[in-house]
Amino acid sequence: MPIQLLSPDVIGKIAAGEVVERPVSVVKELVENALDAGSRSVSVEIVAGGCDLIRVADDGCGITREELPLAVERHATSKLLAAEELNSVSTLGFRGEALASIAAVSEMTLVSATSSASHAHGMHLVAGKLLQTTAATRTRGTTITVEKLFFNLPARRKYLRSAAAEAAHVAQLLSHLAIAYPEVAFDLVIDGRRSLNTPGTGDPLDAALKVLGKDVALALLPLDGTVETDRPVRGVAARVSGFAAAPRISRSTRSGIWLTVNRRPVRSRALSYAVEEAYATLLMVGRHPVAVVDLQVPPAEVDVNVHPTKVEVRLLRERLIYGGLRDVVRSVVAADSSWGKEVGGLARADNRQEDGGEGFRMGRLVEAPLAPASPPPEEFTTSGRRIPILR
Ligand code: ADP
Ligand code: MG
Repeated sequence: MPIQLLSPDVIGKIAAGEVVERPVSVVKELVENALDAGSRSVSVEIVAGGCDLIRVADDGCGITREELPLAVERHATSKLLAAEELNSVSTLGFRGEALASIAAVSEMTLVSATSSASHAHGMHLVAGKLLQTTAATRTRGTTITVEKLFFNLPARRKYLRSAAAEAAHVAQLLSHLAIAYPEVAFDLVIDGRRSLNTPGTGDPLDAALKVLGKDVALALLPLDGTVETDRPVRGVAARVSGFAAAPRISRSTRSGIWLTVNRRPVRSRALSYAVEEAYATLLMVGRHPVAVVDLQVPPAEVDVNVHPTKVEVRLLRERLIYGGLRDVVRSVVAADSSWGKEVGGLARADNRQEDGGEGFRMGRLVEAPLAPASPPPEEFTTSGRRIPILR
């Protein structure tokens, strides 16, 4: 066969396959857009695991009527102008392909109103083709409804697991976002039943209470530390905040470790291990801790553009942050168990640094998907005390 350029239709479907793997990918992109739009309230509804219907409604800035058709164009974004900005993206989205990709494999209805507009306006697309524009009424914000996901990609549809399994993914994602964004009120309804509802007070403990339940929330110890670097100049490589549950709380899987980097929910085997190592000897074999960790990393030192759906990130100083995170968590949880402190009370240990004889296991880091290249050895300091890198 001669070499030919692919048609835009085929290109669209291929790209959609990367961004939209399953219903939860759609929910993730739509909710991230809602957060980028400055919403204080985000409601999500799914039917049949999201295969029949996904609806995300927000009270964010909305999209003007003129811009609505652009929003579903591929590579159209309001969040990035120049390539240099890729080094410092602060929004969750920036690739400008989510709406276009989702629209290409579903029937999509958008309704949006900006604060200045007295009316809302909407459009309806099937397989990415605009079929209808409408006028509607709603208050400021955007509602996007996605129906019949993958109706034109039967192979993808066949690979989806049960509706219950897909719904569980969605619930896990919303839980993570609700914890990471306590100032936003989240609401999740699965097949007509409310599964999650957070108050949006801005207090992380309020969100954690709703997501993790009372027992876990009461056992949470606040994390607050920095990972410092001497290279190339003295500075902060990461700020660690969040909560680690006292070791009397544990889970049989790693699903209790919730990580965000600059408030972006991420999967990171390396960082999860760092948290686990902090609990070494404190938990029984086969048990895993519960922790909610946010790392604030200088935007230029984290690459969020390594994965189409941005769930994986690459940290410039991963090795340093690995050790620092482990030590910050360990100082808090070890203090709790060794002195039997009242849960929820004083959570920080004194300046005693624990290493727990665990050392720094290169082998583990190599396993981690986030560490393609070995960063140079560095010294790090945690909570002000310098610790030489362990080899
Ligand atoms: P990206 O988020 O990478 O910019 P998307 O395809 O997800 O790309 O969205 C395209 C554009 O549509 C966004 O840049 C934004 O301007 C607009 N948009 C999408 N969803 C919303 C929303 N819920 N509220 C306001 N604007 C939105
Ligand atoms: Mg987006």
